[in-house]
Amino acid sequence: MTNLADLDPACPDLAATAQPACATAGPAAPAGLRAATLAVRGGLHRTAFQETSEPLFLTQGFVYDHAAEAEAAFAEEIDRYTYSRYTNPTVTTFEERLALIEGAEDCYAQATGMSAVFNSVAALVSSGSRIVAARELFGSTLCVFDDVLARWGVRTDYVTGTDLDQWATALATPADVVFLESPSNPMQDVLDLPAIARLAHAAGAVVIVDNVFATPVLQKPLELGADVVVYSATKHIDGQGRVMGGAVLGSKEYVRGSLQALLRATGPTLAPFNAWVLAKGLETMPIRVKAATATALDLAGWLEDQPGVGSVRYPFLRSHPQHQLARAQMTGGGTVVTFTLDGAAARRDTERTFAFLDALRVIDISNNLGDAKSMVTHPATTTHRRIDPVTRHALGIEPTTVRFSVGLEDVEDLREDLDAALRVFRG
Ligand SMILES: *Cc1c(COP(=O)(O)O)cnc(C)c1O
Repeated sequence: MTNLADLDPACPDLAATAQPACATAGPAAPAGLRAATLAVRGGLHRTAFQETSEPLFLTQGFVYDHAAEAEAAFAEEIDRYTYSRYTNPTVTTFEERLALIEGAEDCYAQATGMSAVFNSVAALVSSGSRIVAARELFGSTLCVFDDVLARWGVRTDYVTGTDLDQWATALATPADVVFLESPSNPMQDVLDLPAIARLAHAAGAVVIVDNVFATPVLQKPLELGADVVVYSATKHIDGQGRVMGGAVLGSKEYVRGSLQALLRATGPTLAPFNAWVLAKGLETMPIRVKAATATALDLAGWLEDQPGVGSVRYPFLRSHPQHQLARAQMTGGGTVVTFTLDGAAARRDTERTFAFLDALRVIDISNNLGDAKSMVTHPATTTHRRIDPVTRHALGIEPTTVRFSVGLEDVEDLREDLDAALRVFRG
């Protein structure tokens, strides 16, 4: 059997090498590279075998040459891998790559996006803490704030995200965390990140942005004043419908301090195999997101002109209420188009919208987004069904509202599919 040490004299003893284990000398990629290059090369630490692709370390744990080495590792006198609930080299590759793309000091990957949302906040609060959040949030995030953290004595006050006066009023009182999504799901409200961050910091709060809709490609919340960014890697980062994952990005002090302490003890660890899939997903994420965004802009503009379509919400359309803000904060409008079909006979609106969804031949009905496959969701009966109808209407979610996650198919096939289904809707 080949001994790794024989292969590469620069790597004489794998076990004694601090992480990244047996990397080639120097940083993983030269400094000053751009995001698309870092997506392919960031975080790559080749082993002595000089493999092309990222190695997959499918292992729970690691071994020690001597008992004293284990002692030194547990005393944190040496920096090395000990157990995959703590760290794993493949997970490190994913974390480093995403941190480089985002421009964040550090990143902690987790099993799902909801783990990232929950732990990003839980690491900062204790009984008596106060969160101020935009009302327009992912459903499970609302459950975390209203059901879980509320039971633990953490209070959340909600504001309408696009209303800066409401933010100013809420943040006239000290707060510990400000949490928001921009653009929001599904109505694509665009929130003024620099203005909200200024108000939040004056109130002593840490600003956390769920950046799933914008993706790391189209918006950099840390540059706009946020302190922490969270992702569901299940969405565009995988982008091909395979694995779940999540990530929290921010300062080294926060990520390797209170966040790491919470995660190591509670264990919502990202599996090495999933980390490997996600690291490979990052390689193609910039081109996938840009291609889907171009198709989304094209179809959003086209949909506005179609009979049967009442309104279209897309951040880079002139008709969007925060169009200028979106152009200032984002480099593209994103991969999701939300539109509301003409509602006439109120009682039959859901039925007629279902007929539109059922008539699609290429685009799938699904609750996911950010996938290579285009998907439509009916928020009122699925993702947002738990919200009462009056609040739903206030948020702009009607029985005829459709969330369209644009994928990588030929734009003309998608247009023809939508056109045929609109004909069915119009009857
Ligand atoms: C999907 C999603 C989440 C949760 O991510 P999971 O990976 O499903 O746990 C959180 N926030 C937003 C905006 C999402 O779209």
